[in-house]
Amino acid sequence: MSETTLEKHVFQAEIQQLLDLVVHSLYTDKEIFLRELISNASDAMEKLRHIEATEKNIHQPTLPLEIHITTDEEAKTLTISDYGIGMSHDELVKNLGTIAHSGTKSFLKAVKEGGGSPANMIGQFGVGFYSAFMVADLVGVSSRAWHADSPELIWTSDGKTGYEIEETSGLDRGSKIVLQLKEDCAEFASEARVKHLIETYSNFVGFPILLNGTRINEVEALWLKNKSEISDEEYKAFYQFACKAWDEPSYRLHFAADAPLAINALVFAPSENPERMGFSKAEPAVALYSRKVLIDPAPKELLPDWMRFMKGVVDSADIPLNISRETMQDSALIRKLGAVISKRVIKMFEKEAEADPEKYRAFYRKFDRFFKEGVATDHTNRDALARLLRFESSLTDSGAVCGFADYVSRMKDGQESIYYLVGPSRDQIENSPYLEAFKARGLEVVYFTDAVDEYVVDSLGEFDGKKLVSVRHGGVELEDQAAEGESLTPEQTTALCEFLKQELGDRVTSVSSGKRLVENPVIALVPANGMSPQMRQMMKAMDENFKDEVKVELEINPRHPLVRKLADAKDSNQELAQLVSRQLLDNALIAAGLLEDARDTVTRMNTLMEKAMG
Ligand code: ADP
Repeated sequence: MSETTLEKHVFQAEIQQLLDLVVHSLYTDKEIFLRELISNASDAMEKLRHIEATEKNIHQPTLPLEIHITTDEEAKTLTISDYGIGMSHDELVKNLGTIAHSGTKSFLKAVKEGGGSPANMIGQFGVGFYSAFMVADLVGVSSRAWHADSPELIWTSDGKTGYEIEETSGLDRGSKIVLQLKEDCAEFASEARVKHLIETYSNFVGFPILLNGTRINEVEALWLKNKSEISDEEYKAFYQFACKAWDEPSYRLHFAADAPLAINALVFAPSENPERMGFSKAEPAVALYSRKVLIDPAPKELLPDWMRFMKGVVDSADIPLNISRETMQDSALIRKLGAVISKRVIKMFEKEAEADPEKYRAFYRKFDRFFKEGVATDHTNRDALARLLRFESSLTDSGAVCGFADYVSRMKDGQESIYYLVGPSRDQIENSPYLEAFKARGLEVVYFTDAVDEYVVDSLGEFDGKKLVSVRHGGVELEDQAAEGESLTPEQTTALCEFLKQELGDRVTSVSSGKRLVENPVIALVPANGMSPQMRQMMKAMDENFKDEVKVELEINPRHPLVRKLADAKDSNQELAQLVSRQLLDNALIAAGLLEDARDTVTRMNTLMEKAMG
């Protein structure tokens, strides 16, 4: 770039769209722009600190790492300067004019869907800088990158269609952002107003903030303080600033321990779950510090992956400062630290759920997938996590939930298993023929209605030493129940079973008389290692060539009139008996959600109706 040229650039289309929204639609919470700009300044100095460790050629190496803010009421300007890494020409273009990631799109989507104050959310999506245009109609960014021979540049924009970049002189290292405030935003040139904002939003910034020359923030590590000295408001401010959150924390855990490791931890569970709103998988958000020095803002190795919705700080003086990403991976210390934290977090949820089940239920509704993922993937914490799961059952009202512990406490004398049924909805589960026998015996059945539940139950296997058993599986031993009404004799029953097996051939593995049925003539049971209809559907969706012949165990009800008549018909009217046998199996498969091809079924049904009408 030659010294005299003034470059004009046009914003990327998404940025223009974003700016349009920022300038024309965001009227509330405008004040957060200051937090965003201070946070950028703080990030830039944090980056400089890292560079200092390895690079020599740093411009003005003795500049203090401070953020300077100045107000000018007369000129209606607000200036935020930092001595951070600054930006080169290309970085100005890339960072303040284009968007490499999906930040803008996600932000626009989130604004549409609601769930928080849009202005407040802007920083979450990596587009915080543009919030400056909520309050300013002209923004100037003077920047000198850290490297000794970097040019001095000024970027200016009115936030409409584009920006200009020009060379300038007299800059210190870092960035200086000058906001020419809009008429109706002149309040942000008032020292008192800005001071209040810094205290509210930026109190924990790790660098001194000076307003018109006077130091404002405390730079304190809240997690090291005593619980009793911290108000809810301070916790919330910490959560929103230090954890870069825009919602309210729903739960928090603040604790200190000396053994087995020295730990000071302050972690929060949010109240909104962006993954559920369709955003991509969250990054870990519990930062790792050692004696107030940040080691890693998002360590992947510290906590199990399912805990990525938690935010906060873990500080351990036992972790060496120079631990690298590589060594973290196989560090026994980090693993130990993570194990302690995750145990405490799970315990915290358990206690909170007990103390206020309603609140937990509302929380669980948004965050259930994380706990389920944990059950399926985190072997160490599986059993503890199972206590956090919630579901409906045959004994809960529709919409009410309980946990496995409640279930176990209600188990009948002699009951050894936990019974469950997977289905698309409570209604469909309740209408399933599988439930009959359990209802009749007063046995509670858990209803799993989430698509991932089956997988979760499979990984869990048991709870508290009690096996989880699907009521649609064969081989479930149920205690005898006094059967009422007329029934086939044992001999007649055996003969009918043999007839059916012969008629149905390979489509059934066996035919037997069962204790399960009360109102239905027959039921189709799948082998205990077989796939549920939900799983089959998923397999089919993933693989169009997926074929898995369903073979079921057929259980007949020797008391049912239809079954009794069939026993007669097999000797007196074979043709009808054959038709009815096949239809019975198809009906059972339909009820089980397992009938793949209904063409024969319909034709046969028509034939049967014809016969019925003589
Ligand atoms: P985010 O900070 O979330 O990445 P922003 O829109 O706030 O998104 O900023 C975009 C980018 O511009 C930052 O990632 C950073 O690289 C750069 N940037 C912003 N402010 C500064 C600054 N004061 N010093 C250096 N770089 C900055």
